Amino acid sequence: MRDSLLRLTNFIDGDYRAPASGTYLPVYEPATGKVYAEVPDSNAADIDMAVAAAQTARRSWAGTPPSQRAKLLRRMADLIEARLDAFAEEESRDNGKPVTVARTVDIPRAIANFRFFAAMAETQVSESHHDEAGTLNYTLRQPLGVVGCISPWNLPLYLLSWKIAPALASGNCVIAKPSEITPVTAWLLGEIAQEAGLPAGVLNIVHGGGPRCGQALVSHAGVKAISFTGSTATGAAIAAATATQFKKLSLEMGGKNATVVFADCDFERTVGECLRAAFSNQGQICLCGSRILVERSLMPRFRDALVAAVSQLKVGDPREPDSQLGALVSAAHLAKVQRYINLAHEEGGRLLVGGTRPSLEGRCQDGYFLAPTLFDQLDPYCRVNQEEIFGPVATLVPFDDEDQALAYANSTSYGLACSLWTRDLARAHRFAAAMESGIVWVNCWMARDLRTPFGGVKQSGLGREGGVDAMRFFTEAKNVAIAC
Ligand code: NAD
Repeated sequence: MRDSLLRLTNFIDGDYRAPASGTYLPVYEPATGKVYAEVPDSNAADIDMAVAAAQTARRSWAGTPPSQRAKLLRRMADLIEARLDAFAEEESRDNGKPVTVARTVDIPRAIANFRFFAAMAETQVSESHHDEAGTLNYTLRQPLGVVGCISPWNLPLYLLSWKIAPALASGNCVIAKPSEITPVTAWLLGEIAQEAGLPAGVLNIVHGGGPRCGQALVSHAGVKAISFTGSTATGAAIAAATATQFKKLSLEMGGKNATVVFADCDFERTVGECLRAAFSNQGQICLCGSRILVERSLMPRFRDALVAAVSQLKVGDPREPDSQLGALVSAAHLAKVQRYINLAHEEGGRLLVGGTRPSLEGRCQDGYFLAPTLFDQLDPYCRVNQEEIFGPVATLVPFDDEDQALAYANSTSYGLACSLWTRDLARAHRFAAAMESGIVWVNCWMARDLRTPFGGVKQSGLGREGGVDAMRFFTEAKNVAIAC
């Protein structure tokens, strides 16, 4: 780990460059509350340079055989893997998540993303069919050209690579705009691209804040599509800014996911997985199950077991291997989550466990730590149960029957994911079909197969990522009809 202030640069046209403005934003280490790096405060001039470089590289990259593109993506995966520990340490330091989580989840998943979409590049197929008159139709899926990939802070390299890899695999040149709050592993990705031999201009990484740098990227006429993951408010701003340009948009946004527990569940396993679903990554995963709906007859036993399990969770220095929760990502985000804890009290909730900031010693004494927190006795329709908190705060809500559980589960404006816990297979099928969400897990949580469509409905998303859906998003279909 380095101890001096780190100054990051943009990666444009195969080289590291200072921002045009010469100005930088501070990057805080969440575990200490101290500035440890500076990230370029890029503006439209940097975006223009990146788009120009990508435009120059575009034809050659689109014409590069898929097998060669795949080889370069695999090389990037291998190079990240060779530095897995270093990447994990940087991710943990930048985000506040336990280093063990970064080492076992974030960085392996980023590696898997590059390998998976390398395979997709080589195996992608398209349709062809004869019509009644004997005309042969076939569909070409051609790259869009230059595309923008914008990612949030919660799973920094994991989510950025989830966009960059399919965009590159399908023959596009990319302008990536990582979160300005957690930019370091994206900055390191430039080195990986250089070492792998990715041609200059194919991948450009421009750092900066949303309103200036992000806005310049989404509104640039040379950028044909935006793949965005972040808050619903930002997704709406991007949709508005791009509407008259008719850009392709993929928007992965907020969530307020329900975990629905029926009395016939496998009790021990359900308690353990509900705990994981609520508090993994300090509750800062869009898929976290923060509303835990429990069949009334099971509630007393379930509540006791969950409270006991939450009390056992260790909040600590992200560097320590036994820390299960690290720090929240920023002072501003910590303050937002604390406001929701206050609101939960105001709305009549009963605090079951947590709710306070643990006092850590030494280097972590000023870090953004918060104890995992559980409330019950809140109305299912109150603000705490309807709005995204995105922190280590969950609620327990009892229900009487399947219809009521479904009504509660579907009551928010979001629709990303849901998990059901029951041994009744017919009920699981019924409930899954009626859920207003893009993802339903039955007796599991965050089981991810990269081939499956990923995304949400309602205010959680527009479009799908993953597998064939991602390759289709980053290509334009063209039908060719030949009279035979
Ligand atoms: P955010 O919307 O504040 O920022 C996300 C990214 O958008 C950042 O890179 C930011 O700089 C950029 N941005 C901000 N304003 C912009 C603008 N006007 N134009 C272009 N870009 C702009 O989100 P966040 O706080 O970084 O992330 C947390 C949110 O992300 C939560 O709501 C969470 O649910 C959501 N999220 C969703 C998914 C999913 O797959 N659905 C996954 C992870 C996180």
